[in-house]
Amino acid sequence: MLIYTGGTIGMRRDYNSGSLVTFDFQNVLDEIPELRLLQCEITHCAIRIPIDSSNMQPEIWGELVEIIEQNYSCCDGFVILHGSDTMSYTASALSFMLQNLDKAVILTGSQLPIGDLRTDAKENLITAIQIAALQEEGKPCVREVGLYFEYKLYRGNRTTKISAEQFEAFNSPNYPTLITSGVHLEVRRELLLKNESGLPFKAYKSMSSSVGILKLFPGITKDFVEAILLKSNLKGLIIETFGSGNTTTTQWFIDLLEQAVSQGFPLVNVTQCPAGAVSMGDYGTSLELRRIGIISGKDITTEAALTKLMFLLANDPGDYNHLKARFEESLSGEIG
Ligand code: ASP
Repeated sequence: MLIYTGGTIGMRRDYNSGSLVTFDFQNVLDEIPELRLLQCEITHCAIRIPIDSSNMQPEIWGELVEIIEQNYSCCDGFVILHGSDTMSYTASALSFMLQNLDKAVILTGSQLPIGDLRTDAKENLITAIQIAALQEEGKPCVREVGLYFEYKLYRGNRTTKISAEQFEAFNSPNYPTLITSGVHLEVRRELLLKNESGLPFKAYKSMSSSVGILKLFPGITKDFVEAILLKSNLKGLIIETFGSGNTTTTQWFIDLLEQAVSQGFPLVNVTQCPAGAVSMGDYGTSLELRRIGIISGKDITTEAALTKLMFLLANDPGDYNHLKARFEESLSGEIG
């Protein structure tokens, strides 16, 4: 099943006006006749109001989960067409909201519209469908949420958008590519999620939006941190720290964090570095964080950390220690 959400991929250049317009997705097979050559039957649908993905909201993730849940038993796999801007957030969110998947859910999009002469959309779409339909011994080969872009399938919750210019728009710095598309599809089976729990597929539709991201920088003020921790009504916060999870050791900063955690407020330590992991205690500048009991994001991306916190706050109630334990374990292969 092909699910259309909007984004550049679904636009066509009107050669009279030169501007990008959304084409009627009902005619996707006419726009891309190559789809008829694929050896699978393609059904398609769209979300209620297709969007530029910069307008993505947790409610739309819920809508996507509902579409997948309703069609889960009758389809072998799913491809979601999505704008690239927030694709890593959606891929991460869905990886938590769709638990115990035994089918592929592949997100893809493009840097140029499908009607553009030099478009990257056709290859992305056609190979994403092939991967979603790929079977081995009568079972789907990929059983997780993936992101396919520019000849590579990544684990969705390991990705980050890295370029607004290059066709290679995504990267997965802390987990290798799952499938590479060349003359043949090179599948790294040992890297794919196995889902050996035996538990049935379960869909979750709600996420908490009472979360935030605080990126540290030299010169950050007490007023600013106080406004976020004490006056914003959040239920949890991701702190993007330096290097392997280090922060300023200024007393007011440590005191504010300690006060928050003692009141059961979840604080997650995620590194600002694109690659590598948080390891509290390696430097003196993270020892206090470990003592306070800040949650370690380990090698998680900021996109996955944010959506994991949204997911756990909405669907897995418990005290601080419960949330810390759940956050620090892998739910869907997002953490090493
Ligand atoms: N702004 C667009 C979007 O994310 C960019 C794209 O599709 O690549 O919807």
